[in-house]
Amino acid sequence: MTLYKQIESITNIPWYYLAGIDQYERNVRQARRDLPKAEGITGIYIRPEIWAGILNPDITDENPLSIQFFNGFGLDGNGDKKASLKNDVDILYTFAHYLQSYGTDHDNIKIGLWDYYKRDKTVGIIIGKARLYKHFGRINLDEHAFPLPVRSHYSYRNTWGAARGWGGRRSHEGTDIFASYGLPVRATAYGIVEMKGWNRFGGWRIGIRDINNNYHYFAHLSGFAKDLQLGQIVEPGMLIGGVGSSGYGPPGTSGKFPPHLHYGIYKDNGYTEWSFDPYPHLKLWERQERNKKK
Ligand SMILES: [Zn+2]
Repeated sequence: MTLYKQIESITNIPWYYLAGIDQYERNVRQARRDLPKAEGITGIYIRPEIWAGILNPDITDENPLSIQFFNGFGLDGNGDKKASLKNDVDILYTFAHYLQSYGTDHDNIKIGLWDYYKRDKTVGIIIGKARLYKHFGRINLDEHAFPLPVRSHYSYRNTWGAARGWGGRRSHEGTDIFASYGLPVRATAYGIVEMKGWNRFGGWRIGIRDINNNYHYFAHLSGFAKDLQLGQIVEPGMLIGGVGSSGYGPPGTSGKFPPHLHYGIYKDNGYTEWSFDPYPHLKLWERQERNKKK
């Protein structure tokens, strides 16, 4: 936070955009094997040849003058006369300075991000993170909640990857939590409602994007929480809908299987999104909440 505020004071790029970009890149690096692990505080990865300049014979160049000569990206942010990829201030300052060349308001920052990443989804994810950071005014938004009240009756086991019980040939991308009809379904993370609506298989569904590039998917709901809207910011534990048995037909079809919550998590790695097993997370969040209530 100190670092983001410091860069904001020099470049006028609001800290929450810097935090959003940094967090996005950190998550992408964690999810991919072709990128080196972050060594400093910042997660932003800039390829050495881009930093030093494509035609620069020395890709480890830290001299701001020769980097500039070869049209490199790297700048000296902390005033030590070096533009170093090993220095957090230099990296963040360089990125912020790049955005600053577009302007410091929301629309221009978005254009700068698009020119840099060339992917709508990435820009959307970063802007979402920035909104969350701005809204809550802090960078620690990692808390989670179990999707159902932990003191209610429900049951689930690990069925990830199993053949689907109800139609469809895709393997099962989630965990089914069986519970009684109408039991409250709650947001599992800090995030933004990215999708809300009907799908032939999933019935009434909600998708929430969290601060770690994860997309939380809730399906077969009985309905949505009153006033829940697309784009809304949610917190862990917030009511979003009810357990139901909707799906497998046109809008409103219900009761073709026992009521349960289908819960899935998808991760974005910067170019694609894939499903991973939510079961260990569910177990963890359930245990954490039970311990908290003791
Ligand atoms: Zn399911």
